[in-house]
Formats: sequence, structure tokens, C-alpha cells
Amino acid sequence: MNVLLVYAHPEPRSLNGAIRDFAVQRLNAAGHTVQVSDLYAMQWKATLDAADNLDHRAGERFDASLDSKHAFEHGRQSEDIATEQRKLLWADAVILQFPLWWFSMPAILKGWVERVYAYGFAYGVGEHSDARWGDRYGEGTLAGKRAMLVVTAGGWESHYSPRGINGPIDDILFPIQHGILHYPGFDVLPPYVVYRTGRVDAARFATIREELGQRLDRLDTTPPIPFRRQNGGDYAIPQLTLRDDLAPGRTGFGVHVSPAPAESPSLSLWPSQEAVAPPSLQAVG
Ligand code: FAD
Repeated sequence: MNVLLVYAHPEPRSLNGAIRDFAVQRLNAAGHTVQVSDLYAMQWKATLDAADNLDHRAGERFDASLDSKHAFEHGRQSEDIATEQRKLLWADAVILQFPLWWFSMPAILKGWVERVYAYGFAYGVGEHSDARWGDRYGEGTLAGKRAMLVVTAGGWESHYSPRGINGPIDDILFPIQHGILHYPGFDVLPPYVVYRTGRVDAARFATIREELGQRLDRLDTTPPIPFRRQNGGDYAIPQLTLRDDLAPGRTGFGVHVSPAPAESPSLSLWPSQEAVAPPSLQAVG
């Protein structure tokens, strides 16, 4: 597979830097072709602005969506944006790797998304009418490709458990996994999360290598999170609300994931990290 690793950490000698190096080696050893977008090393411009549309004239009102649409349609995007789009089109699988900063991705990675996900490329794709609300949430430019988050967090795993004070990790990552990855079409694999990073030492890093290595080895076979597809019949159009007979009485992020056929409502809505790694290799954080 062609794998694009989009990496956001300012320090190559960090834990994230070591994880990135390991991931690239492992993927290469498995025969994949890997490209890395190392956003800090690239001095990636994080702010979306008028300069992103090469046709934007000084003094004209800047419209973030319409300038993006014009630039994308007319081949007048800033070259750094077009380059990243070509990498996305080239990739069969995309990995976003980052430290959890303030419950989300570092600003430089958010800026990569805002700028690279142009109007006509990642949104505004397909027919928009009262009968069809575009190609998104499982359809779109990036449909058929796989995506996965590799995230490090200072907090403990229990802090991110279903009743943990930080909120469940699946909820915290939902805007990224569902809103940023599933929206333009990706099949999203369960994330790999390293918790309690302050306690990582050589022994723990060996465990991380083992766990992550297995996840990377199964990049092309791991079942994706079964997010519901917008145009698959589960949602009323144009209201885009989930049908009343699906997940009746329930609300929240979890209703947008199809339950496994025999699954009890009290069980997790998608495979947890524990479910995709052998018990002996579970994170110790
Ligand atoms: P590093 O600091 O580089 O390393 C962490 C540990 O790993 C160190 O003990 C180091 O010695 C060890 N290590 C590094 N490399 C290796 C190696 N090769 N082998 C063995 N050990 C190694 N956390 C949350 O949970 N939620 C938040 O919302 C959150 N917000 C944050 C916001 C900001 C602005 C910042 C700065 C931090 C925040 N954190 C948060 C903590 C953050 O998630 C962690 O600091 C980060 O994930 C650690 O990753 P790192 O690569 O920077 O680790």
C-alpha cells in the first residue's frame, strides 16, 4: 500500500519522533511505500487565508469557502496545498500522528486540514439537493482509502474511560475520526492511543513498538469503525437526522456508529484498543 503519515510534533527527539521513526521502518519493512508530511519540519503554514488562492486580489473581500472553491477548480491553489492533496490521492492509507494537545490535534495539523481540505476536494463534493446531501460521510474524494490516528496523551487510560473525567476517548476523537476523516470518505480504523506518556521508559516503549507494530501490520485488514453512511438509508434527507427506529431513545456521538449485530447496547460501540491488540500487549498507562 501507499501510506501517507502526517506527523505533527515540533521535536524529532520526542516520544512522537521515536514512534514516527518506528512506524516508517515497520511499514517499509512490510513492503509499503511511505511518504511523511512532517509539518513542523516543512514549516507548514497553519493559517487559512487569502494567500491560499493565487487569484485573490488585494483589497477584495476574502471568503474562505468560495476562494478555496475558485482556487481548487482553476488550479490556482497555493502549491503547498496542491502537493498535500496529491499525496492524499496517492495514498491508500493515511495516518495522522500527533500528541493530544488541549483535547485535540496541535494547531499546525488543524491548519493542514483546513487548508488541504479544499472546497470541491474534501467538501462541496457531489449533488446537493433536497434528495441528496452531497458525497460525504463514507463517500467523497477519499472514499475507499483507510485512515487511522496515532495519538499520545499525558492522561491515564482511566481518565479517558467511559466514566473518566476527561470524557471517553472515542468521544474526544469523534470530531477528528468522524468529522475530518469519515466526512471526505475515509474508512476509519480504531485509533492507537498511548496514554500516560510521562511514564514511558524503555520497557514501555518496547510494548508500544509491539502493539503499534501489530496495528501497522494489519493496516489493510483491520475492520474500520462502522460509522453509518449518510446516503446509506439511515438518515432522513434533508434533515440528516438518524431514523427514529435506529438507536431509539439514544443520542450522542455513539448513535452514528452501527452496532455489531449481536451487540448489547451497553457494550462499546466499536472495537476498543484492547479488542484489536492481544491482552498481553495492552497499554499499561
Ligand atoms: P515526550 O515529552 O517527548 O516524551 C514523553 C516520555 O517518553 C518521556 O518520559 C520520555 O523520556 C519518554 N521517551 C521519549 N522517547 C522515548 C524513547 N525513544 N524510548 C523510551 N522513552 C522515550 N495530555 C492530555 O492527556 N490531554 C490534553 O488535553 C493535553 N493537552 C496538552 C496541551 C499542551 C499544549 C501540551 C504541551 C501537552 C498536553 N498534554 C495533554 C500532554 C501531551 O499529550 C503529552 O505531553 C504528549 O502526548 C507527549 O508526547 P511527546 O512526544 O511530546 O513526549
